[in-house]
Amino acid sequence: MNKKNKKFSTKSIHKGQEPEKLYGSVSLPIYLTSTFQQKEFAEYEYDYSRAGNPTRTNLEKNIASLEEGKGAIAFGSGMAAISSIMHLLSSGDEIIFTRNVYGGTYRVMEQIYSKFSIKSHWVDTTDLNALKQTINNNTKIVFIETPTNPMMEICDIKEISKICKKSKCILVVDNTFMSPHNQRPLTLGADIVMHSLTKYLNGHSDIIGGILVSNKQNIIDKLRFIQMSVGAVPSPFDCWIVQRSLKTLSVRMNQHNKNAYEIAHFLQSSKKIKAIFYPGLNTHSNHTIAQRQQLNPDGESVFGGMVSIDLGSLVKAKKFVKSLDIFTLAESLGGVESLVCHPASMTHASIPKKVRNQLGITDGLLRLSIGIEDVNDLINDLKKAINKIN
Ligand SMILES: *Cc1c(COP(=O)(O)O)cnc(C)c1O
Repeated sequence: MNKKNKKFSTKSIHKGQEPEKLYGSVSLPIYLTSTFQQKEFAEYEYDYSRAGNPTRTNLEKNIASLEEGKGAIAFGSGMAAISSIMHLLSSGDEIIFTRNVYGGTYRVMEQIYSKFSIKSHWVDTTDLNALKQTINNNTKIVFIETPTNPMMEICDIKEISKICKKSKCILVVDNTFMSPHNQRPLTLGADIVMHSLTKYLNGHSDIIGGILVSNKQNIIDKLRFIQMSVGAVPSPFDCWIVQRSLKTLSVRMNQHNKNAYEIAHFLQSSKKIKAIFYPGLNTHSNHTIAQRQQLNPDGESVFGGMVSIDLGSLVKAKKFVKSLDIFTLAESLGGVESLVCHPASMTHASIPKKVRNQLGITDGLLRLSIGIEDVNDLINDLKKAINKIN
């Protein structure tokens, strides 16, 4: 099949997925091998699975096309992907992060890479002036997350990319919360897109994985060399599982978007909820930026499946979660099943309480990952829990 100019859902099923040549198997085999026979001395397509494996290549081709990049490099986890980005830096270089990035990103920077004299800055990247003021001649990378976790703040990728181009910085966007179905940062000027495959891309809460995508060949070459050298590779089996999941990415994301939109509007109507954080509500402070940059492949504004709510106190949050039946109390997100998480004691527990409160991560805050169950069942579950709090 000629896959040029094919639409998103067609590419997610067919790109890198040509039927296998030996038997015509439509579902591709998993190349469970560490090494490959060479035709002659150093004459081969693959030599060793740390350097490359056909099952991994298929996955990388597929996700590169979904993010509209030139190439992708898959990793054993999202954190392995982020750590590999750090290896683009040398001691003395500086990196700027969105201030409330994923907790693991904060930890790997502050506790590991800071030891190698790489300087970090934690900036509110919704504020373009704050970003401009922090960039200096040593800044090599700006790493943003949008929407942020769990406060759902939106950073303007296009505007930030202009600032980065002027200062010759690489712009990295952690696109985990959106997936390429909902947001394609490379088309807005980013240089590298990062995903935890563990979340929406795999979507079934059964593997850990990560990926980086770029549209610049020199960046792709460097990252591939880092991947091969540090050995942060995923297993062929995990690559195959993610590939299988990608075939339903569009239908899953459509349902996540729809369910969360309906649920956010339902929650907004309840007086017992102190605050609600969802970029699809017109009361959200960055709603118009979200509307502009979060587009599905048909060009419609979409807002993802993550909704955070503040119930006002720890006691209420506990009672609420205890009363839920369908939502499971667990870390992680982006799976077909609905989850609820208490950031202050779970994902963000390592951040000092004072800093947490400054960011809005109060003891009463809950993060909902809206799954693709029947939306009325989910709403009834939430209704029941709301009625239990006073
Ligand atoms: C989960 C997550 C990561 C880390 O990915 P792992 O696969 O858990 O290593 C990074 N960024 C975001 C936004 C995440 O949600």
